[in-house]
Amino acid sequence: MINLVLFGPPGSGKGTQAQKLIEKYNLKQVSTGDLFRYNIKNNTELGELAKTYIDRGQLVPDQVTINMLINELKVPTSTNGFIFDGFPRTAGQTEALEHIVEEQLNRPIDLCLSLVVDDEILVERILKRGETSGRTDDSNEEIIRNRIQEYYAKTAEVAELYKKQGKYVEISGVGEIEDISQKLFTEVDKIIN
Ligand code: AMP
Repeated sequence: MINLVLFGPPGSGKGTQAQKLIEKYNLKQVSTGDLFRYNIKNNTELGELAKTYIDRGQLVPDQVTINMLINELKVPTSTNGFIFDGFPRTAGQTEALEHIVEEQLNRPIDLCLSLVVDDEILVERILKRGETSGRTDDSNEEIIRNRIQEYYAKTAEVAELYKKQGKYVEISGVGEIEDISQKLFTEVDKIIN
């Protein structure tokens, strides 16, 4: 089993690269952003609560997010492991994830792959995505900049925690999609070979 954390600011290509990693290593993707959007679409109580934060470009509180993740990991799967996309985003979530994977999957997080992209490129990419994604948080530049700022303010500490454990690798998220995937595969192969 391999458990990967795919890390990077909004618009860094996490979703696209997660798809490549899933196909190559037979992983199940757990995207907290997607899970929130599913709940919003289905008008659940959780969705209603999450929407109040998401629409402002703020993070949903840790306990709400962590409980949702615990439930998601209970769903049976025949894959070789998990790829966490958009989680953890805070130090509290990082610690929680460590316990959750040990308890529920009997296996630690193996590697945190971090996609690095310049802020202005991020804003440009997200606005472009907003033209077709229908996501309210993708269409307003102020909200987008807030999301990027939230990422640096709260999420930078996640990188520090994985760095300390020697599990953190940075990869440029700018360039051809296939080239970026190859660089990610090289890093994953190092830990499984
Ligand atoms: P994403 O699709 O990963 O960019 O997430 C969209 C929005 O969902 C974020 O801007 C947050 O409001 C919320 N969200 C997603 N994942 C998390 C998380 N791990 N912790 C808190 N909020 C989250």
